[in-house]
Amino acid sequence: MGGESVLNTIFNKASLYAGVVLTVVVGMAIRGDWLLVLVPFWKSREDPLTKHTEEITANSTWLEYFRLQNVGWYILASISFSMVSYYGLAGWLQWHYYIRRRDSVAEWKCQPTKFLTPENERHEIFMGSFNLLLGSIVGGSLAAYIMNGGRTQMYYHLDDYSYGYLVFSTVLLFLMQDAYAFYSHICFHYPLIYKHIHKHHHRYHSPTAFSATAFHPVEFLLLQAGLTLPIFFLPVYSGSFIMCVLYEYYYGMIDHSGVKMDAVWPWQPPSQFHDDHHKYLHVNFGLNLRIWDWMHDTLRKEDRVCSEEIIGGRGLQKKQVQ
Ligand SMILES: [Zn+2]
Ligand SMILES: [Zn+2]
Repeated sequence: MGGESVLNTIFNKASLYAGVVLTVVVGMAIRGDWLLVLVPFWKSREDPLTKHTEEITANSTWLEYFRLQNVGWYILASISFSMVSYYGLAGWLQWHYYIRRRDSVAEWKCQPTKFLTPENERHEIFMGSFNLLLGSIVGGSLAAYIMNGGRTQMYYHLDDYSYGYLVFSTVLLFLMQDAYAFYSHICFHYPLIYKHIHKHHHRYHSPTAFSATAFHPVEFLLLQAGLTLPIFFLPVYSGSFIMCVLYEYYYGMIDHSGVKMDAVWPWQPPSQFHDDHHKYLHVNFGLNLRIWDWMHDTLRKEDRVCSEEIIGGRGLQKKQVQ
């Protein structure tokens, strides 16, 4: 008996660690632009003086004109890796928690009494996969563009700027991406836009890791564009960009998993925070910081009633409803 429980503990631990590793890998792959994470590594190995700067001439093909040589291979690599890891991680979370620990949902689940209907499970996997395909086309094309000498403001050598600027630009990038995620999200809750676009994401009242990419494609592409855009106007170290992207993707998955998890970083809300957004709807719009919700008074309050019809993020006083 004793031996068995030790074995069980070891198995549980090993399974958890395997999941963490898988989560990190998938964090990179999610939304299909994982190649953007690798590109700066390749670029940093180039001598800046011999950078690929071929002239565009009248004889250039349209692919050369847009600096998209070999774009098909970039897209293909992006699609394969994204799909394998998306199903790998979400599948692992599903197996480790939703199947193996089904009997103890009260211990680990954010909403222990709520599960997605089989129809919504199929829907999120379909939408999530479709968006990964789209994201891979955009991410793969952008990776090809950068690798073929296309211009961004990213720098690849640490000594191009001071260390003070490195810290400043990294924090600024993170804040810009998180502010974009918050403000675009709150716009998507404007009734007309919500009804036609963002409602698709909110049919998952108790989300799973598969929900992390399951949006209306327009919303998905706008989110991807917003997170990537800063590299075109903010000089930022490639390693910082990688770090921010990995961080956001990792917590994007965790926050939708439906599994109660606390973050190690003091600024990062626990997974319950975004799960509450799915449960109560027009509150907790932020992703990686609470500050925006705090500024706009849209943090969820226990004494308020929230529902799909109560727009604005503040909820109603309990007595107003009864
Ligand atoms: Zn929302
Ligand atoms: Zn969500």
